[in-house]
Amino acid sequence: MPETRADASQWIALEDHWSAHNYHPLDVVIARGEGIWVWDVEGKKYLDFLAAYSALNQGYGHPRIVEALTRQAKELALTSRAFRNDRFGPFCRKLSQLLGYDKTLMMNTGAEAVETAVKACRRWGYRSKGVPAGEAEIIVFDGNFHGRTTTIISFSTDEGARGDFGPYTPGFRVAPYGDVEATRAMVNDRTVAILVEPIQGEGGVVIPPADFLPGLRALCDERKVLLICDEIQSGLGRAGSLLAHTLSGIRADGVTIGKALSGGLYPVSAFLADDAVMDVFDPGSHGSTYGGNPLACAVAEAAMDVLVEEGLVEHSARLGVHLEERLRAIEVDFIEEIRVAGLWAGIQFSPSVGGARKISEALQAKGLLCKETHVHTLRLAPPLVIKQEELDMALDIIEGVLLSL
Ligand SMILES: *Cc1c(COP(=O)(O)O)cnc(C)c1O
Repeated sequence: MPETRADASQWIALEDHWSAHNYHPLDVVIARGEGIWVWDVEGKKYLDFLAAYSALNQGYGHPRIVEALTRQAKELALTSRAFRNDRFGPFCRKLSQLLGYDKTLMMNTGAEAVETAVKACRRWGYRSKGVPAGEAEIIVFDGNFHGRTTTIISFSTDEGARGDFGPYTPGFRVAPYGDVEATRAMVNDRTVAILVEPIQGEGGVVIPPADFLPGLRALCDERKVLLICDEIQSGLGRAGSLLAHTLSGIRADGVTIGKALSGGLYPVSAFLADDAVMDVFDPGSHGSTYGGNPLACAVAEAAMDVLVEEGLVEHSARLGVHLEERLRAIEVDFIEEIRVAGLWAGIQFSPSVGGARKISEALQAKGLLCKETHVHTLRLAPPLVIKQEELDMALDIIEGVLLSL
């Protein structure tokens, strides 16, 4: 199909010429999406196994969420928080009750939710813990991904994300992920919070040892430190639980969520915590023009209703067991590790493969879209609305590609 192929390359050329090269996308130009499927500009159909980094847990164009968006867009889309709107209070109640926290503070992107958590913890540290002004410390972990703002990349350990963007925001210390004792050694009287991903998503679906999160919880309780879980990718069903950290039998003092909160339609994020933390915010101390706008509230409310009423969280846990069984049954000697939590898998290949990019391109050719993370890991994260027979279809493709390598 030389002619239609030329079409796709036109879009690729435009993007490369007219936009910054801050991503390395697969060369597929998508024009339409529905459920777990997408179609490119040449009409070729693919199964999506990335789900926009888990923003599309409810699938492309979920009718109920699209309906909520269009209806609300016609009614009222934005007021700013200078005025009140009739969607904001009811939605904050719903989300707070769903996730079990006193209060919700709404923002737009994941990075903003993390920034909100950082500000809340610092202020709490000065006002409630008595940390001397300007000396608060937050412990984070190597391999972390919390977003792209200047403060957040200041504590990234990924040189590509961080290099030459300094000077960096001080006040963060990096502990080894999964190691409670090493973390304990870094806690001091100035430590206000530990910020952790219950499972590292961008890191490659890295699941910490079972005693890690309970160990951090105990440490935080002993030393009067806030435990903040970044659930932006791991939460809202992806790992087989509404919040992944609760699988360890603990409760964080605050959580950040985003991505699937939007049902894949419109950026919405939030920081949730109890009053003792949230009360540090007073008028003028934080905000965002679009944060908590009625359109976002309507979309997020429908997205949460779909998640709960369609049983997507339980579905993810149940199908995840099947996903893991089938992945482990693939007999090739170049897989170093398979990590699965719910409908979320990281397959780590040995360097002999020459990088997981090769595999994502081979899968693309067979009609399955997913993406390598770092060099040697492939991440699988289909929309949670996937049916078992569709999952099996995808696994047949994955198995076929791996066996033919
Ligand atoms: C994606 C992600 C973020 C950042 O979210 P954006 O909406 O891209 O700003 C933060 N934390 C985690 C764990 C993420 O996966």
